Amino acid sequence: MIEFKSVSKIYKLEDGDLSALENINLKINDGEFVVILGRSGSGKSTLLNILSGMDRPSSGDIFFNGKNLVKMKSDELALYRRDNIGMVFQKFNLINSLNIRENIALVLKFSGASKADQKKAADKTLDGVGLLQRAKSVPAKLSGGQQQRAAIARALVNDPEIIVCDEPTGSLDSRTGGEIIEMIKELNRRGKTVVMVTHNKDYASCADRVIEMSDGKITSEKKLKESANKNTEKQSIKKRLSFLSALSIGLKNSMRRKLRFFLTSFGIAIGAAAIIVLVSFGAGLQKTNDDLMKDFSQLEEIFVTGANYDSAGMGIATVNTIDKLKEKPLNDKTMDQFKKIPGVKDAYAQARFSAEAAFNGKTAQFYASKSSPLEYAQKSAMERIKYGNFFTSDEENSIIIPYEMAKIFGYSEADKIIGQEAVLKNFNDLINPDSKVEQKEFKLKIIGVMDEKDKMIGAMIPYKTGIRINNEILAKEAAKDDPELYGSIVVRSADPKKVSEIKAKIIEMGYGATSFEDMAKSFGEIFSIMQIILGVIGSVALAVASLGVINTMLMAILERTKEIGIMKAIGARNKDVRRIFLFESAYIGLFGGIAGVIFGIIVSKIIEMIVSFYLQNSGEADFLSFYVPPYLMLFVVLFSMGVSMAAGYIPSRRASRLDPVIALRDE
Ligand code: ADP
Ligand code: MG
Repeated sequence: MIEFKSVSKIYKLEDGDLSALENINLKINDGEFVVILGRSGSGKSTLLNILSGMDRPSSGDIFFNGKNLVKMKSDELALYRRDNIGMVFQKFNLINSLNIRENIALVLKFSGASKADQKKAADKTLDGVGLLQRAKSVPAKLSGGQQQRAAIARALVNDPEIIVCDEPTGSLDSRTGGEIIEMIKELNRRGKTVVMVTHNKDYASCADRVIEMSDGKITSEKKLKESANKNTEKQSIKKRLSFLSALSIGLKNSMRRKLRFFLTSFGIAIGAAAIIVLVSFGAGLQKTNDDLMKDFSQLEEIFVTGANYDSAGMGIATVNTIDKLKEKPLNDKTMDQFKKIPGVKDAYAQARFSAEAAFNGKTAQFYASKSSPLEYAQKSAMERIKYGNFFTSDEENSIIIPYEMAKIFGYSEADKIIGQEAVLKNFNDLINPDSKVEQKEFKLKIIGVMDEKDKMIGAMIPYKTGIRINNEILAKEAAKDDPELYGSIVVRSADPKKVSEIKAKIIEMGYGATSFEDMAKSFGEIFSIMQIILGVIGSVALAVASLGVINTMLMAILERTKEIGIMKAIGARNKDVRRIFLFESAYIGLFGGIAGVIFGIIVSKIIEMIVSFYLQNSGEADFLSFYVPPYLMLFVVLFSMGVSMAAGYIPSRRASRLDPVIALRDE
């Protein structure tokens, strides 16, 4: 039973208060059929909306089976609506993007019914109104009468006690209207309480009671017959919209404007990619650093070049010109001077030639990698060998070639080439192209091939073999007079802690000297610059993307205002609506995050390729590598979702707080 007790509704307008309802006292019994008549603007819809819990009165109380609607919170009202009220409107109010079955199933979604139950119940009610064949049609494909029948099915699907109809025939021709009225009468006969507003006095004859309204007041009440008056109190459904249903509604909604969805996620993707590049670069650097640190021998090295030069740039001693060498020669005499510096353990030279390596009629360009005596041989150098073995002496006539070279020699199965002989010839002075080079040929046995993945293009030869060739071709006659014999000299400190001290002395002597420390420092500098740039790009992109998400979601609310009203009318709670919209923005973040991870990995690979190409040409290898740990990908995707949801929070709250009556009026 419903009871209105001195219910008033006042709208505060600019030109004074408007009394839409004035002191309404009304009892509606269970199973009764009440028809409300009255001119337009007399307050009929307002009365129905208050009865349905869609709107609240300005004063007074409404009791439903003893419970006061006025005292209920808005979510309780939503559940009251969902479980007890079925609404039929003049304009049908079906959701256009859903088919008829989905429109009806939506009610059940908010009741937490399983998918199978949703379909079963929807089809049963559709069958009841004779529309089962049209279950898959969208509302626009149906006639007005069919749409209204679908709307009646929707009102019935949750088996509510009360059917509230606001001018249900107002948009229909009289014949179709008559059919709809017959249907509503039948519902009443089966026990539903019906409260119906109509303009058509003919339809009033079927009611148990006719109420007339004017200017917000009940002006007359006529009892035509006794109602069945049966009490059918119904158990409230305990279930709510499930998490999964909200997820699937959110996904469906986000796919409704695909272009907008993708453009918005693109912004997120750029931000996410910047994070990936930034962090993976740091992680890669850390990894390289750790690898190098394991190779303690490198920490003792000081790399000496001809003249002192500005090491503010890369800090890597690869820039060496003939002028600098002439000024400060690197030869055995200089090497002896270095060896005398306190704390120096050893010093040894690096060759300065390039050549051609010939094998079986094929030739490849030959560059020598940095080499050191076996006793200091680096683990990292040995680890590069995929086939064959490392050197066993500093003097042997052998060579370890890069995989690329083996391929040029015609060996795709690189291990087959091991044990064969290559010839070095056509030498060039790497530092002074004009200097006299004595052309000779040197036979070297191929004892190893590097890993295919190794990006180094230099070959390895034993340290003394390299120096012997260097001296024979560059200065056989005049070794003593040729001051600029070697390309560079490596000085080793006995103690890694003494490296900077020794380095300072060498620089004092006028030479250029760098150590791993410098290199780490300069990479650290590059890293912090990149970090700042990427950090700025990333945060700007994410900030802009957040605005994009907010905009997208606000647009979605504007476009779907009516739909939000419908969802509320069929029993969606504020939090259900909020969740659906929040999930929708989460999808933008999910998609943007995944795209950003992929995008970021691609960009890292490209940077890696460019930088390693550049570094190889300057003699250094593989210092810059990106490392994308799996947890980073996961983090970036979650973070993108978090950013999107944070941006979508305010819009989703706004959507959830829309007044259902006003939202339903939206066109
Ligand atoms: P009916 O359904 O009988 O045509 P309504 O209940 O829709 O009438 O409206 C009753 C009165 O309240 C009308 O004068 C209408 O203009 C006014 N009214 C309804 N809703 C609002 C609102 N949200 N703000 C201001 N006035 C309103
Ligand atoms: Mg009305």
